[in-house]
Amino acid sequence: MLTLTREDVRLGCRAADWRAALAQAAEELVRAGRVSAEYGEGLLAREAQSSTYLGNGIAIPHGTPESRCYVRSTGVRVLQFPEGVKWHDGSQVNLLVTIAAQSDEHLDILRQLTRVLDREGVAETLARATNPEDVLATLTHLPVSAKLDAETLCLGVPARDHLELAMAAASRLRHAGCVESSFVAAIAGQQPLPLGQGLWLVFAATGVKTPALALATPEKRFQDAAGDVVGVFCLAAHGDAHRVLLERLDGMLARGDGNTLDGLPAEQILSRLAGESARAETARVRLLNPHGLHARPARELVLVARQQTAQVYVRLLEGSGEAVSASSLTRILGLGARRGQTLVFSAEGEGAAQAVAAMVEAVRGGLGEPVTPLDERREREREEVTARVVETAPVVPPVADEPMTAVPAAPGVAIAPAYVLRLPEFRYAERAEDAARERERLGRALVGAQQQLEALVQRTVGGEVSKILSIHAEMLQDPDLRDAAHESIGEGASAEAGWWRAIDTAARAQESLADRLLAERAADLRDVGRRVLGLLCGVEMPTPPEQPYVLVADDVGPSDVARLDTAKVRGLVTARGGATSHSAILARALGIAAVAGAGERVLALTSGVELIVDGELGRVVAAPSPVRRQRTEKRIEEQEARQRAAHGRRHEEARTLDGHRVEVAANLGNTAHAADAVERGAEAIGLLRTEFVFMGHPQLPDLETQIAEYREAFDALGGRPLVARTLDVGGDKPLPYWPVGQEDNPFLGLRGIRLTLTRPEVLETQLRALLMAAGTRPLRIMFPMVKDIEEFRAGKAIFDRVQAEVKAADVQLGVMIEVPSCALLAPTLAKEADFFSIGTNDLTQYTLAIDRGHPQLSAQSDAIHPAVLRLIQLTVEAAHAEGRWVGVCGELGSDPQAVPVLVGLGVDELSVSSRRVPLVKARIRELSLAQAREMAALALRQPTSAAVREALEAF
Ligand code: PEP
Ligand code: MG
Repeated sequence: MLTLTREDVRLGCRAADWRAALAQAAEELVRAGRVSAEYGEGLLAREAQSSTYLGNGIAIPHGTPESRCYVRSTGVRVLQFPEGVKWHDGSQVNLLVTIAAQSDEHLDILRQLTRVLDREGVAETLARATNPEDVLATLTHLPVSAKLDAETLCLGVPARDHLELAMAAASRLRHAGCVESSFVAAIAGQQPLPLGQGLWLVFAATGVKTPALALATPEKRFQDAAGDVVGVFCLAAHGDAHRVLLERLDGMLARGDGNTLDGLPAEQILSRLAGESARAETARVRLLNPHGLHARPARELVLVARQQTAQVYVRLLEGSGEAVSASSLTRILGLGARRGQTLVFSAEGEGAAQAVAAMVEAVRGGLGEPVTPLDERREREREEVTARVVETAPVVPPVADEPMTAVPAAPGVAIAPAYVLRLPEFRYAERAEDAARERERLGRALVGAQQQLEALVQRTVGGEVSKILSIHAEMLQDPDLRDAAHESIGEGASAEAGWWRAIDTAARAQESLADRLLAERAADLRDVGRRVLGLLCGVEMPTPPEQPYVLVADDVGPSDVARLDTAKVRGLVTARGGATSHSAILARALGIAAVAGAGERVLALTSGVELIVDGELGRVVAAPSPVRRQRTEKRIEEQEARQRAAHGRRHEEARTLDGHRVEVAANLGNTAHAADAVERGAEAIGLLRTEFVFMGHPQLPDLETQIAEYREAFDALGGRPLVARTLDVGGDKPLPYWPVGQEDNPFLGLRGIRLTLTRPEVLETQLRALLMAAGTRPLRIMFPMVKDIEEFRAGKAIFDRVQAEVKAADVQLGVMIEVPSCALLAPTLAKEADFFSIGTNDLTQYTLAIDRGHPQLSAQSDAIHPAVLRLIQLTVEAAHAEGRWVGVCGELGSDPQAVPVLVGLGVDELSVSSRRVPLVKARIRELSLAQAREMAALALRQPTSAAVREALEAF
């Protein structure tokens, strides 16, 4: 959105020539802190490509894509030259609207300006304005949008007269949210006006929220007492904003196209109303230009249109915009067409077919720019995401002291100034003469990157972090990557270009496997790639401030998190990602308070603004009020005190005030961490994710290897129980040497027990290894992703056979409750399974139908949802009726608000990340069972997860 303030406007400027004017504009942007000084070169380079003169005395200088790296934040500076400046293309310029944009935001700015340009006398008004407000009023006078689209069409209504159609159209406007009931009442008292060609019009200005035009047509054209009826238009009038709708209606009638509407589908009706004649030749083409139809390609398009003998019109297929003259640069820019959108060209009369064909050809040819084909699936995803973001969440910077919700990703509360991380841009020559020299440069950079990574591995605490960094180091040594880069260098590429091509190709191949874990590997690859590029280009990676800070980033890469100095980073906020994203997992491992998926708004924050991050409630507050700040500081102090106290009692049992015991165990992915879990007070391993044991090996680990790994955990546990989940791969967890075919919905596909049952010998070996490693020590085995008793029995048959041979002394066989069907059928399962462990991560995903890692939706995927709680209640009741125990091993178990609810629901064991064990124990000790039951009952009565959290907070 172009939001100009009076500070953005400079009146009465003078310049000897256009270069001096441009230099002033650049200077203004620098002074405003929008760009660094180098951006001026980018402005000049852009003018060298073609003039940015728009018309009506206005030019819109902006940098080349290469100069975007000098933009600090998007903004505009307006300079008025009342005496005019002669531009290099001969035009007279009175107003420079200079744009600093980091991506394609300038298209929106352009679109808004072009609307202004069309107005009469605008050039003089702007040139003569004597106060900034007049300029602002002229530039930012945005037309109110008027609605006319598929939603306002009501076709094939079984009506008997035109009055019924009028009411149908009015009601449609009410349903579309454009008008209130009073509008419909006003229409009810009207006699429709005849427009001719079988069309009628009713209109009112009462109760109008958005100006709009609806059309209702009958099933079949008919005659009533008033005459011929093809359809009735209903206009919601507001100010003069509906004028454009009437003009379009008028245009259609003037062309005599009203008669042709009978029986047409919505798309064609809209095209008639958009100004496309029924007799027009039309042709469509996808726009492939990387930055959409910006000024340069638009100018090319206009030139082609002007060469045609027929007048050509163009509109966007998406939306319901008007067809505009393809010979008008401002009109074309006003479309704001982006890559991937479809342009519809139309022309009438002689030469029409050739004209639209020429336009299509020109667009396909790239309009003077190199274009690449669309990867339909990825572009669609990108478009959908963009559309959602654009339509439903315009990016507005966070408001001071207003809490924003996000996904709680790592517990803790922090308060510190924000440090907004922006990845550096690398500028390098694509080609180089001396291949030997380039290979040598690449070799040196690879060695440098390797040394950096090794130093980081040494510095990092936490197993997960160093594991990921070690993977990065391994990636660097991949001979395939190096060979691919050398090959490109041999073909004339520079070291930078060759290396990045190799990285990008490998990453794309990885991404195309359509699997989230593999997609994360692609992010790892790019992360490693950037490290090497940084060394090659001599670009410093962004350096964080010396003082403590909260890191704000789009979606930080694993090594960005690993680079964090935990002494300085108080918290982490990411715009994208969910609680299961790599960065969230790492933040948890490092003990940093974190929220994920906070939305793009957080990226609009300025570094240095104070931020509160609440990793427990999933909240971010920018520039908190002194009261909120004090409250938070107090909370942090209390939390630290609580942590110290909890740590001191970590080895004691967790009992409620009235003596009810709840076992607190740890979740592990790595058997080597079992000793650490015990040290932190874990009474058992409540979930061993054995797939990580498998993932740590290049091929299926054999019996001996598995026994050795499981034994390590048993040895560390000193007689405490180990709950091992059998191999849970598929879905978001691929195993490279056990490929699952391409699936449209991997989360609903071959995963968990379903997958292992396809290779029973693998399951058998794993069960044997577990039983043999246990010997006389307590072992609990559970199957993941079971949907009903049938799958449990299939797994149990294999278990029974192996156990009959091994005869381990203390074994139970259970089921993970992760699929709603299993919770609903818990009474049948409880008869045969020894225990249940509720995997709330998956249970929530399947209950709420939200992908657990979805970048936009996962914020709504809160496991404390009453529907999930009811399934937990059913599970516990069924288990206890048969004398079985129930654990919770999903993330909900470590949620401080959820702990009392789970205890109140009767859960016997909570298995949480090792770090959380002391705190979860402490939370249990604060409660009485009666109080916990009350809280559970309260939560179950709520309609939404937000209501649950509110009710619990108020308890
Ligand atoms: C769960 O789904 O809650 C669970 C514990 O398993 P995972 O997170 O490993 O899928
Ligand atoms: Mg699961």
